[in-house]
Amino acid sequence: MVDNGVAGSGTAGDAWIAAFGQNSLRTLLTAGTILVCLVLCTTFLVDGTRDREVAVTAAGRAAANLADSLAQQVSDTLEATNCALFGLAERVTGGPAPGDSLSQWMAMQVMMVPRLHQLLVIDERGNVRANSDAKSADLDLSRLHDLLSHHRRDADTGMYLSGPARNGKATPWLIFASRRIDRADGRFAGVVVAELEVDYFKRLYEHVDVGPHGTIALVSDGGTIMVRKPFAFVGSTFRDHRARTSQSNSTGLILTTSPFDGIARLDAFQRLTDYPFTVWVSVAQDDFLAQWRSAAQANGIAVTLMVTMIGLLSVGLGTQIAKRKKAEESLSRLALFDGLTSVANRRRFDSTLEAEAKRAHRDGSTLALLMIDVDNFKAYNDNYGHPGGDAILTTIAQTIAANVLRPNDLTARYGGEEFAVILPATSAAHAVVIAERIRTGVVNLNMPHVGTPALVVTVSIGVAALAPRTSNESAALIREADAALYESKSAGRNRWSLGPRGALVI
Ligand code: GH3
Ligand code: MG
Ligand code: MG
Repeated sequence: MVDNGVAGSGTAGDAWIAAFGQNSLRTLLTAGTILVCLVLCTTFLVDGTRDREVAVTAAGRAAANLADSLAQQVSDTLEATNCALFGLAERVTGGPAPGDSLSQWMAMQVMMVPRLHQLLVIDERGNVRANSDAKSADLDLSRLHDLLSHHRRDADTGMYLSGPARNGKATPWLIFASRRIDRADGRFAGVVVAELEVDYFKRLYEHVDVGPHGTIALVSDGGTIMVRKPFAFVGSTFRDHRARTSQSNSTGLILTTSPFDGIARLDAFQRLTDYPFTVWVSVAQDDFLAQWRSAAQANGIAVTLMVTMIGLLSVGLGTQIAKRKKAEESLSRLALFDGLTSVANRRRFDSTLEAEAKRAHRDGSTLALLMIDVDNFKAYNDNYGHPGGDAILTTIAQTIAANVLRPNDLTARYGGEEFAVILPATSAAHAVVIAERIRTGVVNLNMPHVGTPALVVTVSIGVAALAPRTSNESAALIREADAALYESKSAGRNRWSLGPRGALVI
């Protein structure tokens, strides 16, 4: 594009500002879109993390509360058992020989405390001396061997818990609570034994909801599983039990993977205050996070859709802005430049000349104007064709522009094969130098033109230069330049002439 600058016209400046504005609008749009998407994603992640923490805390609290109340229940059961054993021991040591009345008392105790399976009195040699269940003739004492030897060894008369054990697969699992009985001289006299049904705890735990993959376990200090929901691993050793509970006191929360089934669970444990048992309540992560997971998935899909929509909208808007920018650019190009030669068009010439004439009047400077007309151009078209003529016009426009050097100078297509050059703050003497430079520049192009005496393409130039006396002398300047151009044509073409007012100021 050939443009010699149009300071003062303001039109190119506006176009630049408009272009800059649209660029910053696109940058702003992209930055805004990224920011909104970042805010959406961050909110989703922060909210999701917080909701997960809330779900974990709530599950932990519920498990800990449950472990606490189940521990209390076991404590109460063992306390009642201990009381029954204490009473039994008192009766055995109080009377000379336990008889039928003792067995009846024992049967009554078993009836009153439903979790009690059986009460037994065993002497120091291992013989059953009294039994709450008179009908149970085939009593297998092998399962009591451990507790008998414990009490024989240990003089402590407190309650001792052992088991669980069962007498073959068909019989129920039992936990044994026992107390040592002493003779008056302190020697070992035997034991009183209470058998507790594991089934009682099993039924109790069946009604407690710990989720589809949750577990409840009653574990002895030695790590033996007394009862478990779901009912499995009873009698097995929970190897991690000591290691896990020893880290804390009587209560705690641990997130871990089960050594039995590999399921990740949140474990709450509560050790009984007076008995060597701990209740474990474990809730599976998959269960207590299920609601959070589905909410997070739904939110994730919503955020993804929103981010995609915002992204697409932003891209669409950006494309529209780019299209508009392109359309405005081409419109402003059409408004300011000549389509064929790319120099300024007539409209821009008119406004620039008017502005420069006013400025020259204000400044008291000389404004010069060149009117340039291609010689015998009709003949050129006739000889070389219209497209050839178009090419010549473009080349001449470029040659003129190349010889017009100052930033405020303006080369324009005035119409047809006529060009004009506005030269602000230029004397007539300087204007004719430029006119001559343009004329020789065109001749030196050496473009053949058989329809003209010089046999090459030439131009005739009318030069006008005046210091405007009024603020509106642009028309006078054009008239002067036109007259000078007519003079050049009349004088034989391929020359420049200076208008009369130019001659005065030279
Ligand atoms: P003179 O030396 O007196 O100026 O003779 P001339 O033939 O140049 O003048 P005239 O006014 O008789 O003819 C001008 C010609 O310029 C007529 C027209 O066909 C041609 N012309 C005007 N505009 C264009 C254009 O855009 N492209 C082409 N190829 N020719 C044009
Ligand atoms: Mg003409
Ligand atoms: Mg002509």
